[in-house]
Amino acid sequence: EARIRRGLPTKRPIHGVKHIIAVASGKGGVGKSTLAINLALAVASFRYRVGVLDADVFGPSIPRLLNLKAEPQTNEKGDLIPLVNFGVKAMSMGFIIGEDSPVVWRGLMETLQQLLHQIQWGELDLLVIDMPPGTGDTQLTISQQVVLDGVVIVSTPQDIALIDARKGANMFTKVDVPILGIVQNMSVFTCPNCQHKVHIFGQNGVLKTSKEMDLDYLGDIPLDADICELSDFGTPVVVTKPDSFNTQCYKEVAKKIM
Ligand code: ADP
Repeated sequence: EARIRRGLPTKRPIHGVKHIIAVASGKGGVGKSTLAINLALAVASFRYRVGVLDADVFGPSIPRLLNLKAEPQTNEKGDLIPLVNFGVKAMSMGFIIGEDSPVVWRGLMETLQQLLHQIQWGELDLLVIDMPPGTGDTQLTISQQVVLDGVVIVSTPQDIALIDARKGANMFTKVDVPILGIVQNMSVFTCPNCQHKVHIFGQNGVLKTSKEMDLDYLGDIPLDADICELSDFGTPVVVTKPDSFNTQCYKEVAKKIM
């Protein structure tokens, strides 16, 4: 405890949680939070007990994705009690700070360090941490404070996103977090009228990068209006359209990481 107060790195497991993975991206807006939540819901659909920690302190999106708003309660120890929707437990900086308030915290990292170990998850098979984009203090703090089983990197197939995805992967390797693999998002768009497939951001950029970096390729999520709209409604595609092709794609990734 004293080590934490002095800010020294102490990597430890999270009480009651069997496996912890992070979902990370180099760039923002590539679909990281959408993947994190649909992955969590896909794993939950395999009858595992799943939680999601939204560590995207500057742009928390889990409250919206899971349609959760309430301010979390604390237990007698002062630990935060996660909110629950669709069978998944969730804790987000967004619950605490509100969706529209800019984060102007001093000691943000200290707060985060505490938050990581002061949530009453109960027994979980898997905790998915939605990281902020990039390679900043938050990612380092989490990597140094929590024993991560590994990280899933997500990228679109554009060069500009892939360059940052590489940087992200290198950072996690440097701090000894295993990389579970890389997911390609928004590569293919299928026209709903004529079924013609268009590769808006390029076709195989992520696959190519995974080969070059010797990382596992975990799968491909199409660019689809359903994914976007259902996310905005707070009813993610994996729970709302469990038999869809989109859901199948998220489940394929989930199978590979479990
Ligand atoms: P990040 O966490 O990387 O910033 P988000 O998950 O918030 O990105 O996604 C950014 C936007 O793209 C959101 O509006 C989301 O609904 C949309 N989006 C993500 N993945 C897809 C997809 N495969 N198809 C269509 N829209 C998507």
